Amino acid sequence: MDTDCLFCRIVAGEIPATVVHETDTTLAFRDIEPKAPVHVLVIPKDHHPDIAALALADPGVAADVLAAAAAVAETEGLRTDGFRLIVNNGRHAGQEVAHVHAHVLGGAPLGPMVS
Ligand code: C5P
Repeated sequence: MDTDCLFCRIVAGEIPATVVHETDTTLAFRDIEPKAPVHVLVIPKDHHPDIAALALADPGVAADVLAAAAAVAETEGLRTDGFRLIVNNGRHAGQEVAHVHAHVLGGAPLGPMVS
């Protein structure tokens, strides 16, 4: 755990979050500023700054994050009409929290991807 990391502190229960799915290695919780009717963040419980770091250090957990995102899409009712899965990495992508997280977005047409 990185004590300076917001999402590590959510995993530790030090900061509240609305958890919708949990496994041994992942946690999924609702985004506090939702950008779609359904907006859930899926994170590995262990601290990794971005998807590249996670994939290199622990590809099995990277797969766990994908599986958890799929499970969230199922339980949130997004499988029929579809959903978007986004991982922002680094400054140019606008990553705000340096603990890798996958955004699961859906529940309405989402419009085009930004350039
Ligand atoms: O991909 P990016 O780093 O920009 O996304 C960070 C996300 O974390 C934002 O959508 C923000 O609303 C969310 N967040 C949250 N709970 C917090 C802090 C940030 O859901 N306590």
